Amino acid sequence: MTYFRPNINDMSGYAPGEQPPPEAKVIKLNTNENPYPPSPEALKVLQELPGELLRRYPDPMAKAFCQAASQVLGVPADWILVGNGSDDLLTMIVRACTEPLRQVVYPMPTYVLYRTLSQIQGAEFVEVPYHEDYSLPVEQLIAAQGAVTFIASPNSPSGTIVPVELLDKLARQLSGVLVVDEAYVDFAESDALELVKQHDNVIILRTLSKGYSMAGLRLGFGVANPVLLEGLIKVKDSYNVDAVASAVGAAAIADQSHKNANSEKIKASRSQMARELEKLGFYVLPSQANFLLAQSPSGNAQHLYETLKQRGILVRYFNQPRLDDKLRITIGTPEQNETLIKVLGNVLTSAMSQPNSH
Ligand SMILES: *Cc1c(COP(=O)(O)O)cnc(C)c1O
Repeated sequence: MTYFRPNINDMSGYAPGEQPPPEAKVIKLNTNENPYPPSPEALKVLQELPGELLRRYPDPMAKAFCQAASQVLGVPADWILVGNGSDDLLTMIVRACTEPLRQVVYPMPTYVLYRTLSQIQGAEFVEVPYHEDYSLPVEQLIAAQGAVTFIASPNSPSGTIVPVELLDKLARQLSGVLVVDEAYVDFAESDALELVKQHDNVIILRTLSKGYSMAGLRLGFGVANPVLLEGLIKVKDSYNVDAVASAVGAAAIADQSHKNANSEKIKASRSQMARELEKLGFYVLPSQANFLLAQSPSGNAQHLYETLKQRGILVRYFNQPRLDDKLRITIGTPEQNETLIKVLGNVLTSAMSQPNSH
């Protein structure tokens, strides 16, 4: 006997990275949070919020936030749709556009939530392997003709970016919706925002979780032609973004200089960490995100992940093809990065002196 639909019984559910309690003394490099504090302007708005804002229902479209984002991005406010994190926009897109015979398509490996949402919806999903060097398998993605095609750029966990010319080609040759998930755009050298002006089937997703140091606020948004947004608005929860997130998020996105300064620090640390990991014998994929995907010189990445965890450092390990010999390591503060490198160095040398330790 079961209470659930067959596809819910059959799926395993999304497994987020571990979130230890805030007081735990761990170096947390496993979920791509920003190591620096949010904008002081945003924190000031948060501290001064009037109680009246909580008494009333929020604006269903979070217009305060959309106005601020519109200024920053140079797109009209009605081209912006907010969500409870960009995960919420992913949910709306899958809900509105897919069903068993209207399939979801994405390159692999990528953000696992694309699969989870397809499974919940009961929509078929087609997983097209990335090429060895993480260049995009464009022709196969076009051939699959998804009702929805998801491309994370920069991609997680590879950190690689898709050139905008290729996304443009995809947009032209797909009859369905092309979703460009730009959760990590704040650490990248380019973006694909211009595509929404040229193609009514493209939606760009952004979030305040990574670049703006606000993963706890839960605020993301999509940018697309209002005709595309109209269908998504029909399926969204009425009050999907609360009044606090809209007000605080508006101040955060307006403070570009704070975000940009933090991104520059992270990009500098990213180059340094890549060099240090290479010195330890890791192969490191070039990254345009706030993390590195590093292939272990010892082959056994699960053992490394567990040993690091015992020593108070959390990184991400994915037990799946192409990733089970690698660690995804979020860029932390310079001190955190230094500790990680030191501990990794110790673990690797002691592993080499005990050949049968795993
Ligand atoms: C972190 C992340 C998101 C979602 O972030 P939210 O916190 O829900 O805004 C979306 N896509 C990718 C690829 C991510 O890594």
